[in-house]
Amino acid sequence: MSNPKLTFYGGVGFTTGANFLVEYKDLKLLVDCGLLQGTRNADEVNSAPFKYNPSEIQFLFVTHAHMDHIGKIPKLVKDGFKGQIISTFETKELAKHLLVDAYKIMISRERGGVSRNFYEEKNIGESLSLWESVAYGEKQQINSEVSFRFLDAGHILGSAIIELNFNGKKVVFTGDLGNSPSPLLRDTEIPEDVDYLIIESVYGDRNHKDKEERREMFKKIIKETLERKGEVIIPAFSVDRTQIILYELNNMVEDGELPSVPVFLDSPLAEKVTAIYSKSDRLFNQNIQKEIASGDDIFSFPKLDIVGSARESQAIENIPNPKIIIAGSGMSEGGRVLEHEARALPHPENTILLMGYQPVGTLGRELQDGAKTVTLPASYVKGKGGKQKVPVRARIESVHGYSAHKDSEHLLEFVEKSAGVNEENQKTKLKKVFVVMGEPKSSLFLVQRIRDYLDIPAIYPEEGKEYELI
Ligand SMILES: [Zn+2]
Repeated sequence: MSNPKLTFYGGVGFTTGANFLVEYKDLKLLVDCGLLQGTRNADEVNSAPFKYNPSEIQFLFVTHAHMDHIGKIPKLVKDGFKGQIISTFETKELAKHLLVDAYKIMISRERGGVSRNFYEEKNIGESLSLWESVAYGEKQQINSEVSFRFLDAGHILGSAIIELNFNGKKVVFTGDLGNSPSPLLRDTEIPEDVDYLIIESVYGDRNHKDKEERREMFKKIIKETLERKGEVIIPAFSVDRTQIILYELNNMVEDGELPSVPVFLDSPLAEKVTAIYSKSDRLFNQNIQKEIASGDDIFSFPKLDIVGSARESQAIENIPNPKIIIAGSGMSEGGRVLEHEARALPHPENTILLMGYQPVGTLGRELQDGAKTVTLPASYVKGKGGKQKVPVRARIESVHGYSAHKDSEHLLEFVEKSAGVNEENQKTKLKKVFVVMGEPKSSLFLVQRIRDYLDIPAIYPEEGKEYELI
C-alpha cells in the first residue's frame, strides 16, 4: 500500500518560511510557500532555488495571507509552477494586495546596483490567474482517493486549517491558529479523527498573560497620553491588528470611554485590507454580527481620518495634539510610521504603543528593550541628511494580549481535542504530531508537553527529511 510522504522545506526552527511538500502516488502538493523573515540570511534563503522541481507540483494549498505563508508564491510560479493554487476567497483577496505591496518594498530595497529581487511583477498576476477559492467546510475531491476541506483557523480573515484526506488517512496542517476568542473573528474550529497533525508553535513555550485585561490596558495608555496632550503612535500590522484597533477605538469613542480626538489611519495597505474585512461580516463572530446588524459601522467613528497621499500623511504634524496615529509597518521597519516616530520620540508627552510581536533586530524591538536613542534613516527625519540619531523621551508601552496566535496552553488543548483523547485516556487515532513554525525552544517545549501531558508521539522534524505517514 502506498503512504503519503511529507517533507518540510521551511518553517522548521523558525516562525516564518512555511513550505511543506506532500507526495502521494503520482500526486505532489505543497502547503504554503512563505518568506523567511527576520534572520540575517533571509534574502539569501528566499532567493535560493527550491529544493524540488516547481513544475512537478500539481497543487499549492495556502493556509492564510501572511507573507511568511504566501511571500514566495510568485517565485514558485517564476520557477515553473503551473498547477492550481487553492485557498479561501478572503485569503486570495488579501494576498493580492499584500503581494503587490511586498513587491514595491522589495524593489525599493535595490541599492547600488545590487538586486534582491527574486521574482518579477508579472509573476504576481500569473499567480493570481492560477488561484482558485473554496469556502470553509466544503469537502472537495482532488481525485478518486484524495480530498480536502478548509476549517476556520480564527487567526486572520480567511485563515484556514487544511484537512487533507488520503484514502481515509487524515493529515491536518494548522497554518497559524488564532488566539480565540478574537475580538472580531470566529473561534478556531477543531478537526476530528486526525491521523497526522502539523501544528504551529510561535507561542509553544509561553502563555498570554494580559489577555483578560488587554482592552483596559489599551484604553488606559491612550487615555493618559491624550490627557498629557500628547500623540499616540501605534505601529500597526495591516492585517487584523489594524482592524482590531479600529474596532476597539470605535467602541471606546462611541461609548464615551475615550475623548473624541483626531484619529489617523495612515496606511494605504491597511485601508485596503480594512475594506476587505468590511465586506466579510459573515465571517465575524456572533457579537460582531449583532453589532453590525444593529447598524454600527464597526471600523468607523467620528474624527477618524483615512489618510491618502504622502502629502496628507506629512500634514498630520500640523494637526494640534492630542491625537492618535495608526501607521505601518508594525515593527517600525519602514513605512509611514517612521516619520511619525521621528517626530514624536523626542517628546515625553507622547507614547509609542506597540501592539504586536517585535522580533530581534527591528526598531520596534530596540524601543521595547528601552533604547535611549535610535537611529532612523535620514529620509524620515525632517530636514536632515544621512542616518539620524533620535533621542527616545516618549513613553514606550506594549500591549501583548492582542496576539493573533494561540498560546502554549491553548495549542495543547487544540491537540488534545483534535486527538479526541477521552477521559480514561484510551488510545487515540492520532499517530504523530509534527511541531513546526516556532523558534527551536518554543517548538521543543510544545513537543515535550504533547508527549508528557497527552501521551501522543510528537516530534520536531528535520528540514529536508522525508517522513512516511504510515
Ligand atoms: Zn500568520
